[in-house]
Amino acid sequence: MGAILHTLNPRYSPAQLVYILNHAEDKVLIIDPTFIPLVEGVQDQLNFLETIIIAAEKSAIPENNLNNACSYDDLLEQESSEYQWPELSEDTSSALCYTSGTTGNPKGVLYSHRSTILHAISIAGTMGFHSSSAVLPVVPMFHVNAWGVPYSALINGFTLVLPGHALDGESLYELVQQESVDCLLGVPTVWLGLLQYLEGKGLKMESVDQVLVGGSAAPYAMIKAFDEQHDAFLTHGWGMTEMSPLGTINTQTKKAMSLPTEERYQLQTKQGYPMFGVEIKTVDDDDKELPRDGEASGALKVKGPWIMHTYFKAEGPAVDDEGWFDTGDVATIHPDGCMQIVDRAKDVIKTGGEWISSIDLENAALTHENILEACVVGVPHPKWDERPLLFLITKDGNQIDKQEINDFLLEKVVKWWLPDDIIFVKELPHGATGKLLKVDLREEYKEHLMEK
Ligand code: ADP
Repeated sequence: MGAILHTLNPRYSPAQLVYILNHAEDKVLIIDPTFIPLVEGVQDQLNFLETIIIAAEKSAIPENNLNNACSYDDLLEQESSEYQWPELSEDTSSALCYTSGTTGNPKGVLYSHRSTILHAISIAGTMGFHSSSAVLPVVPMFHVNAWGVPYSALINGFTLVLPGHALDGESLYELVQQESVDCLLGVPTVWLGLLQYLEGKGLKMESVDQVLVGGSAAPYAMIKAFDEQHDAFLTHGWGMTEMSPLGTINTQTKKAMSLPTEERYQLQTKQGYPMFGVEIKTVDDDDKELPRDGEASGALKVKGPWIMHTYFKAEGPAVDDEGWFDTGDVATIHPDGCMQIVDRAKDVIKTGGEWISSIDLENAALTHENILEACVVGVPHPKWDERPLLFLITKDGNQIDKQEINDFLLEKVVKWWLPDDIIFVKELPHGATGKLLKVDLREEYKEHLMEK
């Protein structure tokens, strides 16, 4: 209809919400009744807001002090059931998402009809979705438009299953069973809960044959668990808000399936091959392209039909003179073109002039049978600049002997990678999209090794 859909993360602070709604110049706000108090608190600061639509029947809407609010049902009743769709240029804006803004204000990424449709068609093809598939994205719409899956469902006619609020293992399992879901999509944290629930109950997901994992690195142990316990292939994808989101994908090719099992799992831990149309390269500190030898690692740059050039309302472009966008990730490209993320540039642990990949160290810890979740952050160290701290949640809730963990890790990583301390916790901080909030841990533990 020519309007721009801005999917909004309600877990931003009220100040960030005000900033984003004003920056986006949002005119109509559509909310669930749960968010009425939140909007009541900020509505006077929203400079462009004209109407609030509450997505509920009138009888389900509590007394409130919202200005210019109506129920969705009322709105529909007043309108004609005829609609003349406008003819729009393919470059017209269609949707807007903001990055999570862990540092500074969130940045807006404006998608066009063209970029959205090209991406939606491409993901269906690469992932093998067809009209008989039932696909369950356990990804909020504000996380890069639920990774484009809703658009892809409309274009390709597959069944779109949405989970609502209940993301615990039991609710997800019941939904999968009820809708006979073939493919799941989500960040690793969501699957930890589901796998743990299923293992505890001795249940198997019979219908699921593929799980697309992105947003954070998919650990080896998870790839193995989906395969061994559920006969489901974990398709590892990588991307970001600026990329609509998908850039690379590691699909179930004949080549992958012919490898010995352990080797295939290793291959699946890599973030995969560029989607058709997407170009990738790694560069050194002088912006010189690095060899694709599976060894050299450097800043990962991308370009392609659904990759952003300029942040919404930004003064200058976010790409270099040749149109390459710097992703902020550090990666290696293998000779066959497969890309592997080493780390986010800001999460790489810089120690004595060398690098440690927090992702690799977490993956190594997660292969321990009693470790449920692992998080590695670099914190300041008086001699080595930064050293790793390892935070662990165990499956049985008890601590494991630190020496035992170090011995276990030594089978997988070199000695100087071993964490300077191991800290057992009951929970780890996650952001609204389910990713580990490493910034919070770094801040909280910044003195931990300095005091020693
Ligand atoms: P946010 O910054 O809010 O996390 P995005 O969802 O856009 O927003 O995050 C993109 C980043 O997530 C990437 O730059 C990368 O660091 C990380 N990421 C995404 N997919 C993967 C993956 N498969 N493996 C490792 N990191 C990933």
